[in-house]
Order: sequence, then structure tokens, then C-alpha cells
Amino acid sequence: MNSSAGRRALVVGAGIGGLTAALALSRVGWQVTVLERTPELGEVGAGLSIWPQAWKILADLGVADRLVDGTRPAIQAGLRRPDGRWLAKVGADAAERTPVMVHRARLHEALVAELETRDGVEVRTGVTVTGLSDLDDLDRVDPRGPADVVVAADGIRSTIRNELHQREDVRYAGYTAYRGVTAEPVPGEASTTGGETWGTGVRVGYVPLVDGRTYWFVTANRPEGETGGDHHADVIALVGDWHDPIPQLLAATPPSAVLRGDICDLRLPLKRFDHGRVVLLGDAAHATTPNLGQGACAAIEDAAVLAAQLAGHARVESALVAYDRTRRPATSRLVRASRLVGALGQIDNGPAVAVRDAGLGAIAGLLSR
Ligand SMILES: Cc1cc2nc3c(=O)[nH]c(=O)nc-3n(C[C@H](O)[C@H](O)[C@H](O)COP(=O)(O)OP(=O)(O)OC[C@H]3O[C@@H](n4cnc5c(N)ncnc54)[C@H](O)[C@@H]3O)c2cc1C
Repeated sequence: MNSSAGRRALVVGAGIGGLTAALALSRVGWQVTVLERTPELGEVGAGLSIWPQAWKILADLGVADRLVDGTRPAIQAGLRRPDGRWLAKVGADAAERTPVMVHRARLHEALVAELETRDGVEVRTGVTVTGLSDLDDLDRVDPRGPADVVVAADGIRSTIRNELHQREDVRYAGYTAYRGVTAEPVPGEASTTGGETWGTGVRVGYVPLVDGRTYWFVTANRPEGETGGDHHADVIALVGDWHDPIPQLLAATPPSAVLRGDICDLRLPLKRFDHGRVVLLGDAAHATTPNLGQGACAAIEDAAVLAAQLAGHARVESALVAYDRTRRPATSRLVRASRLVGALGQIDNGPAVAVRDAGLGAIAGLLSR
């Protein structure tokens, strides 16, 4: 059954979740209007791991081909100590089980480029939705009548979620993240290895992107909201003497390109993702710490499930209930597991670090999921 003909969705937020939802809905015949508060479409950020289940969705939507051509080289990944000793290695052979590493801005551009080929999709920038009444106002002046569905893809600090749930659900995880991408490919270990290195209250991760440059991040336990300073100098002070190729990666990254942001997630559980014709998607529904590298993947999966349910149900409300039942348990598990991995990775007590390191094989299994 396809119940999509002539249906119309309003999507709030043109991040990875909102744009993928617009594409997926357009593919099942919906008309879509995307409302985005920034004056122009675009993303900053650094690397994103796109795991196979999300990559398949991007491939089906015509986006993957815009990001990668040819085969991806296998890399040796795993978990190390700051002195470089491998604690656990993850197979370098299985490209189909490992994520595709893309630059966030490139993925965003690819989604926009694919949307531009679709009829019936309109993206309005410079529109900040201050609450659900704004959407009712839009409906009133729309000659086509009210939208059938409102997709709230407005990110971790979602205005719509806060209005529906009447509380602010975001919480600080206790650590901040620095992120960067090298200006050029760095030869040697930086292009043949990847993974994480766990120290005491500090972690480093790096992995080559599909374009040959290397994405890296550093997390450190810090008070919430600490800003300013020289981020590049901070990371060199934290991990500049750790194993190769970490010093080379930092040296190959322009200081102005180092980003910093506190890591937050959403308190659990949200009681539901669906509220009448309104549905939460992506970080608005289930923002997670990035320890499993799956937040954007989950948003992409949300989009695919939402479109499939809307195409398969005659009643919008039934489709949204089915979406909620599918996506809420799966994403709740993700948020919990990611939080746990972060808590382990950020242990800053010496004896506890020793105990943790003794059991890292099991943790590596979780990371390589
Ligand atoms: C350090 C870090 C590393 C990460 N690494 C990975 C990774 O490797 N792999 C992975 O899968 N995920 C990763 N993630 C998670 C991923 O970035 C997010 O899950 C994903 O970007 C969420 O997309 P979204 O579209 O739901 O929200 P967002 O990207 O936040 O987009 C929300 C959009 O809504 C707009 N908006 C907000 N409010 C309004 C409003 N009131 N009116 C109109 N527009 C509005 C915003 O401007 C924005 O464009 C990482 C996250 C962090 C912090």
C-alpha cells in the first residue's frame, strides 16, 4: 500500500536528519517544505562515521555516489594506549562492516545537491520556528491547507521537543571535544591506521576520510561551558607527545580549523517521539554522545523508517505510532551504550584506568559493532 499521494510534510531543521527525511519523503511521493533558521544552507564540523546500515539508506537515496567513487582502502583500527601499544585490534578486512568516513560538510552538500534534483521539495532558509503555533500560522496562509505531518528535526536543543515535553532535557556529559581535519592527506600511519587511544581522562581518535585527509578528535574532562583559548595549543598540550601519528596529525591541521564543543546528550527516556501529526527525528528525539559515532546514522535511519511507515499506513497518526515503536527502543539503547563507553573512556583515576585497560578487549568489541 502507498498512502502518500498528495501528502505534504513540514520539516523543521535542515541538518542531516531533516534533509534525509525530506529526501526519503519525497521519494515516496510526499511534497516537503523544509524550514531552516540559518540564512544559508551549510555545515561546518569535521568527520562523520557513516555505518553500513545508514550508508545503505544514503545509497538508496542517491547520496552515497556523490560522496565516494571507487573502493575504500582497508585500515588497521583498534584501541591503543598513549605509548602506542595496541590493546585491541579490529579487523582491517571487512569494508562492509566498517563505517565510511566522510566530512560532515560534504555529506550535507551531497544531501542538498540530491534534494535539488527532486520536484515537490522546497527549502526555506532564514526561518526560525519559535513554536508549534508558527507552523499553524504557516498552515493558515498556505492555499494547499495544513501539512499532514510536522517533522521536528531541529537538533539537540529542539524548540519543538521542549514545547511538547515542557522541559529542557539536555545534559552535559562531563567532557569537551576538540575536532580537526588535516589540510592534506598525511602519508604513513595516518592513512593506514585508525581508531582510539585512551589515556587518563583524555582520549584521541583518528581515521582517514574518503577524500584522503585525516579526521581526528580529542576529548578531555573539563567544566561545562569553558570556552575561548587556543584550541590547537590545548590539544598539543594534552596529547602532543602521544604515539605517532598523533603529533603529525595535529601539526598538519591549521590551528584555525580546530573546533571545540562540550559533549551533551538527552536525558532518557522521552516518553514518545510522536505527538498527533508532529514527530521528533534525529537529535531532537535522541541526541547521543558521539562515542559510538552513530548519532547522524540514527537520524538517517529515522528518516528511512518514517518515510516507509508513512507510505505504508493510510492514517498519519498510525504511521507515526509505528515509527515511535520502532525507533524509540533502538535509539534509547544507542544513547545508553554510548554514554557508558564515554564514561569508561573518560575515567581519570589511575587505578581505575589500569582495571579498565585490562578489560579493553570487551569494550573494543562494542566499539566495532
Ligand atoms: C563531536 C561529535 C562527533 C560526532 N560524530 C558522529 C559520527 O562520527 N557519526 C555519526 O553518525 N554521528 C556523529 N555525531 C552526531 C551527529 O553530529 C548528530 O547526531 C547529527 O548531526 C544530528 O543531526 P540532526 O539533523 O538531527 O540535528 P542537527 O544537525 O543539529 O540539525 C538541526 C538543524 O535544525 C536547525 N534548527 C534548529 N532549531 C531551529 C528552529 N527553531 N527553526 C528552524 N531551524 C532550526 C539547525 O540550524 C540545524 O540546521 C557527532 C556529534 C558530535 C557532537
